[in-house]
Amino acid sequence: MAAAREEKILVLVRLRPLSDKEVVANEVADWECINENTILYRNTLREGSTFPSAYTFDRVFRGDCSTEQVYQEGAKEIALSVVNGINSSIFAYGQTSSGKTYTMDGITEYTVADIFDYINRHEERAFVLKFSAIEIYNEVIRDLLSSDNTQLRLRDDPERGTIVEKVTEESLKDLNHLKELLAICEAQRRIGETSLNERSSRSHQIIRLTIESSAREFLGKENSTTLAASVNFIDLAGSERASQALSTGTRLKEGCHINRSLLTLSTIVRKLSKGRQGHINYRDSKLTRVLQPCLGGNARTAIICTLSPSRSHVEQTRNTLLFACCAKEVTTKAQVNVVMSDKALVKHLQRELARLESELRSPVPPPSTNSDYAALLRKKDLQIEKLEKENRELTKQRDLAQSRVKDLLSMIRSDQDSGQLARINYHSNQRAGDTWEDDYSESESSCLAASNQFDARVRKFDPIHCYDRERGSHRYPLNNHEDHSIHNGVSGGRLTLRLNGDDVAGQETMSSPLNGHREANHIQEGPELSGSWSCRADVMGTISSPYMEHIASTPPNGFEKSFPGRPDSYQMKFPSLSYGPDSGMLSRNDSLSSLGSASIQTSEDEQITSIHTFVAGLKKQLANGQGTGLEAGESGRSIRDDGLDPMCEAPGTPVDWPLEFERLRREILKVWQACHVSLVHRTYFFLLFKGDRTDSIYMEVELRRLTFLKETFSKGNQAVEDGRTVTLASSERALSRERQTLSKLMRKRFSEEERQKLYQKWGIDLNSKQRRLQLVNQLWSNDKDINHITESATIVAKLIRFVEQGRALNEMLGLRFIPPRPLRRSFSWKNSMTSLI
Ligand code: ADP
Ligand code: MG
Repeated sequence: MAAAREEKILVLVRLRPLSDKEVVANEVADWECINENTILYRNTLREGSTFPSAYTFDRVFRGDCSTEQVYQEGAKEIALSVVNGINSSIFAYGQTSSGKTYTMDGITEYTVADIFDYINRHEERAFVLKFSAIEIYNEVIRDLLSSDNTQLRLRDDPERGTIVEKVTEESLKDLNHLKELLAICEAQRRIGETSLNERSSRSHQIIRLTIESSAREFLGKENSTTLAASVNFIDLAGSERASQALSTGTRLKEGCHINRSLLTLSTIVRKLSKGRQGHINYRDSKLTRVLQPCLGGNARTAIICTLSPSRSHVEQTRNTLLFACCAKEVTTKAQVNVVMSDKALVKHLQRELARLESELRSPVPPPSTNSDYAALLRKKDLQIEKLEKENRELTKQRDLAQSRVKDLLSMIRSDQDSGQLARINYHSNQRAGDTWEDDYSESESSCLAASNQFDARVRKFDPIHCYDRERGSHRYPLNNHEDHSIHNGVSGGRLTLRLNGDDVAGQETMSSPLNGHREANHIQEGPELSGSWSCRADVMGTISSPYMEHIASTPPNGFEKSFPGRPDSYQMKFPSLSYGPDSGMLSRNDSLSSLGSASIQTSEDEQITSIHTFVAGLKKQLANGQGTGLEAGESGRSIRDDGLDPMCEAPGTPVDWPLEFERLRREILKVWQACHVSLVHRTYFFLLFKGDRTDSIYMEVELRRLTFLKETFSKGNQAVEDGRTVTLASSERALSRERQTLSKLMRKRFSEEERQKLYQKWGIDLNSKQRRLQLVNQLWSNDKDINHITESATIVAKLIRFVEQGRALNEMLGLRFIPPRPLRRSFSWKNSMTSLI
């Protein structure tokens, strides 16, 4: 059997034009598709600061796009998988009158036309095409091809899953036949209805085409197999039903107006989007029972979210977009469905039996003796003991951190002069606890990630996750999303998202010469991208959306964990919209490309810390350096022991700086090696700090941080870096992941010839396997030989495009690294601390 193919649900967004009625009523269109992937909210006056203004999906279609275009460029590929034996489904989701039926009618016809075309071109196969149609209204299933009004029942079939019993199946002859059948369905939906609108906005219609095909050559023979699959066209009830039901909790109890099917669908999509393994309540509604395979199961799925552009519908439109954001995170696993003839099945089973018998004859010996088991048990016991110890240690660290935060806060409040310092890493500590203030912002911004890139990205789940007491489930920390260049912070009890003062990538890109490009100018004007986004409070006020919960848990993509030097607040980056010089289009740029290169990012690149993030991290670190020193002191380690206390030595003061620089560099190289520090980090650091006097402060902070880390590791303890737990083993693993990522970039950044030269230079056999990885494994492996180090840095620099990044960074920030001023302030702050203590 063919292997299952995993992919994310394809999410398309279709904006309809303003209707004549709306035009007459002077309605304003507030939404615009600014390119093929992004839809933008234009009415910045009304609620510009509350929600994201841009949403990115696999494809968005403007009001003047035809349904044929939506089909050809969006749904077609998925719909037609059915002829190859792969189940597929196309949903239309959106509020009433947003264009679901308009869209689905067209999509259904285009698909069927293409299917007949395919059949005509494949005369070597015999096809059977069956059509059925049902409606789910108030949890009652009706056959739209049958005039008797009886309710259809669902039955669980061990082989076929949930089936609709006794549903009429018509053999479909041609396109005209389809049109006749669709007309019958339409008529059936009207029967007994006082108001068509009321019913059509509350019922779901599912049209199903089942296709079976076999090669004519083998028909009736023992090796004949049949491909069998179905395609569903699902015209859902108006989505306002779901959000209304959730927003006005009372209705839930009344039970009369709630569309249970739609509600369950939303809940399931939300759950699936979190990648949750737990129980998924497909059985809670008829719709989700019938469509179970389309939701995270054996099917390829596309969802077309239809939107009204008008201002008066903005709330529903937002809800639809949030649903769309959730949906694009859901993964399905489609496989080719092959039905074997009885004879072929018997043969297959016979072969399988023979294989099992031969396995039985030469079994792999299990651990048979008692002593084997005893050893195994001892090993497990030791593991348990170790985990318990780690747990105790972590609890201790957490308590310590919490009390420290408390102390710091009370002190800061009482310290009139040090208002600035109130920011010291406070929120990163808070995050390490169990509040999730930034839940909302995370998802809102994750909605903005270009979903095609999102798909391509290797998404790793971090093993370190937090236990959510309230819900009794594991959730992933949110503190490290590479895609967002907004920083968040907690101020006055409410979460704000803002572009960090230092972190101007988005703005800078925006303000680069745009030659009066209309769309780009619009963006520049919009306060969303440059202003402050306050989220939390507003979100709470408009909780009508059923998808808020999703927001909590877009999992981190994991790579950042390997970068111990990066502070939390620099890990969220906002995908800036920027004007790509070549494309003439607005495109999303991530951290790398926003620094100058407009090239399309690959999944590997996405995992590389950009120089911008690195620099921001350094600065933050410097600001925190003082705090860390304090902490180190508190936990019993004298900061003066190693003579590296930057607070005692103002930058640029070392007596014999060149010598001191060499010494610091040697030390840093050693601890990098010992702590398995990220190669990208080493490279940036190595190439940026080459002996300038102002470098000293950064080098000292780096050395002290890592020396502390190394000591912690050497005692077998875990360290907590920016609210994350790091062990020697975890950084070693992260490093090895990074090496793999870098090795993948080898092919992109070096020509075949350059690679060959490098292999020769590094003594790698040209015929051996995994040469790229072999090479990358050698990089930075020797901390003594400065030639080796320089070479390694040069290669990594090329892999991560250091030069281009660096140039852009300079242009952008116009700086060399000047130690930020807070240093002096924190110096006095430290003194005031001492006096307080
Ligand atoms: P829904 O099924 O979501 O309730 P309909 O498909 O019935 O909405 O569309 C409502 C009205 O808007 C219909 O008159 C339809 O013809 C019109 N309409 C919907 N989408 C478009 C579009 N993309 N272009 C032009 N007219 C549209
Ligand atoms: Mg409709």
